[in-house]
Amino acid sequence: MKRRDFIKNALTVAALSPLAKLSAQESNNKKGETMISSEKSKFEPLSKSLLGFGLMRLPRVKDTKTDEIDVEQTKQMVDAFLEAGFTYFDTAWAYPGSEDAIRQALVERYPREKFQLATKNAAWIGCKTKEDAIAQFETSLKRTGAGYIDFYLLHNLGESRTKFFEDFDLWNWAKELKAKGLIKHLGFSFHSTAEELEEIFKAHPEAEFVQLQLNYADWESPSIQSRKIYEVARKYNKPIIVMEPVKGGLLANPPQSVKDVFQKADPKASFASWAIRYVADLEGVMVVLSGMSNIEQMKDNLSYMKGFKGLTDEQRKTIMTARQEMAKIPLIPCTTCNYCAKVCPMDIGISGSFTAMNIYTLYNNLDQAKHQEGWLVSMHGKKKAAECVKCGACERVCPQHIKIREELEKIAKTLG
Ligand code: SF4
Ligand code: SF4
Repeated sequence: MKRRDFIKNALTVAALSPLAKLSAQESNNKKGETMISSEKSKFEPLSKSLLGFGLMRLPRVKDTKTDEIDVEQTKQMVDAFLEAGFTYFDTAWAYPGSEDAIRQALVERYPREKFQLATKNAAWIGCKTKEDAIAQFETSLKRTGAGYIDFYLLHNLGESRTKFFEDFDLWNWAKELKAKGLIKHLGFSFHSTAEELEEIFKAHPEAEFVQLQLNYADWESPSIQSRKIYEVARKYNKPIIVMEPVKGGLLANPPQSVKDVFQKADPKASFASWAIRYVADLEGVMVVLSGMSNIEQMKDNLSYMKGFKGLTDEQRKTIMTARQEMAKIPLIPCTTCNYCAKVCPMDIGISGSFTAMNIYTLYNNLDQAKHQEGWLVSMHGKKKAAECVKCGACERVCPQHIKIREELEKIAKTLG
């Protein structure tokens, strides 16, 4: 089966649970058909580097209390990455220490034309005026020392964050930067629904590319919507940069039943390699970012991404089987419709708490679950599960008939 047909199969299967129960329905599809008409249009990547070095989780110096970035190890990683023929580096104004570290490890050590640097503007963090947001760009230029930015992203659009870029007229400002040669390509990263993504593409055809959270585990997730947002990006024929292909490291250590599937298929391949190759194989993906944190992870990534030509049919089937195994794990069946949020007198972050708890159930990783809860609940101005007053209003409107009060009580005990 061709890759295009595989994608079509993946797109046509309905969500059967919060995580996909995706089954191969290959025999039902006529060879050569495409579900998304834009797949027929020519895909023109803006970068030739399929693997990108994500600089959010750089190695830290051991045995220090300062959480300082290990620049010497970062240099080794940069050297290995470039040596393997990859050239795309992704940092952000908002990643502590990252822009400084990449100046030292890369910009000051290699000719400028040998690499592409991406950084981002997070106008929704602490900016009261357009000038505050512009100052982030000036800081990025200074910290990186790069002279210009190859890929400049408006960072993390979606929900209430999108309006900062509109209110400060940053799209037009970024177009001016491009005209001056200070940025080469303009795009945005995004965390929200497929509908919102489509609205942004319609409003801003000047976006040349988009950065999305895609991974095999979130393909049918109601909150992340990997499949749906992928489909929208393909419809608008935007080159895709994939972030979180390993789901913040969770898919490097998936549930045991998923590990068993992968180990049976190839005992030598790392679990992270399945996750990264899955998205690298998708039509329209230009770069897959991997947030590597040490030289061993870099070597592992390079071992399968150098010369990567796509997955075999057998490998694609293995990933579908793994996803089916994941879907068997009983989760809170919340679809993130957020009807409950409209009636809750306490403004409890119900769906966010459920997503975080599902992460805990799947990966048994309390830190990651708490991190998700922090982002989806507290950072979105919602209250935590423990503050529920048990009025029951939410349960009367929940289409999934979830015993919300009971679940929140369990979450309060587990996540605090
Ligand atoms: S039971 Fe709790 S979560 Fe549900 S509406 Fe009342 S306060 Fe909100
Ligand atoms: S109403 Fe039910 S399904 Fe919808 S977000 Fe709330 S808990 Fe989830």
